Amino acid sequence: MPGAEMNSAVLDLNEAERARILAKAAAFAPPPATLPDGRRDLVGLSREELAAEMLALGEKPFRAKQLWHWLYHQGETDFARMNTIAKPMQMKLAERFVVGRPEVATQQDSADGTRKWLFRFRDQQQVETVYIPSADEDRGAVCISTQVGCTLSCRFCHTGTQALVRNLGAAEIVGQFIAARDSYGEWPSPKDGTPRHLSNIVVMGMGEPLYNYENVAKALKIVMDHEGIGLSRRRITLSTSGVVPMMDRCGVELGVGLAVSLHAVTDELRDEIVPLNRKYPIADLLAACRRYPGASNARRITFEYVMLRGVNDSEAEARELVRLISGMPAKVNLIPFNPWPGSPYKTSTSEAIHRFADILNDAGYASPIRRPRGRDILAACGQLKTESERKRKVAE
Ligand code: SAH
Ligand code: SF4
Repeated sequence: MPGAEMNSAVLDLNEAERARILAKAAAFAPPPATLPDGRRDLVGLSREELAAEMLALGEKPFRAKQLWHWLYHQGETDFARMNTIAKPMQMKLAERFVVGRPEVATQQDSADGTRKWLFRFRDQQQVETVYIPSADEDRGAVCISTQVGCTLSCRFCHTGTQALVRNLGAAEIVGQFIAARDSYGEWPSPKDGTPRHLSNIVVMGMGEPLYNYENVAKALKIVMDHEGIGLSRRRITLSTSGVVPMMDRCGVELGVGLAVSLHAVTDELRDEIVPLNRKYPIADLLAACRRYPGASNARRITFEYVMLRGVNDSEAEARELVRLISGMPAKVNLIPFNPWPGSPYKTSTSEAIHRFADILNDAGYASPIRRPRGRDILAACGQLKTESERKRKVAE
């Protein structure tokens, strides 16, 4: 069957591409999670790795289970307060391990309730994390970063102007959510189904998560573990600029919601504003979306579309978008472009955004317009970090 042959050829190609992507990610690996005094950070270890550490200490497997509970259910960082563990064992643990947190370099609160942190890691690298509360309910999403900088250089994105420094480790990725929880005092982990302020995660901060897949996957598995933080995969959305070969793996292994940064309906324009399109053009990207495991009406794929004045916001483009995604369980998030100093675009007019949304809505696609949040605290992704570096340089 020619169809099947072609399919396996595509899969083989994807396999080679995946190997190449993972090898490149390893070249930007984070520094080891060990302090200068040799103590190891327990945050970010998988359950199996934690069990192996305990085994090496001559401890039984239940010790790992106990620690997991203290780390991820109770949010405890001090071994001396882990009162189900006997004193001598607490001391033994404290000699060898720490329960780490990223350091808060800055924290800013916006008038609209958005809270933004610049977190600093042991090697002094910094990333941004944002908490965006829901307007009408006691819940909200934490937007987490996955890389320091980004290898891709989408024309409208401020992070895209910063070269990739390195990937974040699993501890640093899960650490952003944990530190956000510390900030709101939301410990112990609320039971699934009970209200939580920090109810969702969007992997939409700095960096391309599918170019740091192993660390992102490890971190999300920790977050989803029901004996710890216990956030279900339905409350997690991962955004990609379209790293096609890794999308299937993400769906099968993690089953989290998928958001795809589409932003253009022709390869000509997308090649320019999302340069990764030259490698994985729109047709390949949409094919990967159509086969994304778990996509259904209850679990629609989100297409993100940044509204750039006079660039991608015409009615004809809205109609073409409807044609491209027809038959797919999808919704479209329209994101008014968030300008930054020196950015080459303007935000679409409100009329253009509403006309665009109407065409999508009329075709049966929910197309919420994202409200600009945290304008007063530089919420455009990547901006806070640059601003802090600029100030530091001035100070030096
Ligand atoms: N690298 C991933 C996730 C991080 S970017 C990705 O590209 O999907 C998260 C979202 O913010 C993307 O949809 C991106 O296109 C959008 N974005 C980046 N800069 C923006 C800006 N200045 N204004 C509005 N949206 C922006
Ligand atoms: Fe990287 Fe996403 Fe920004 Fe593109 S939009 S440069 S992929 S962070």
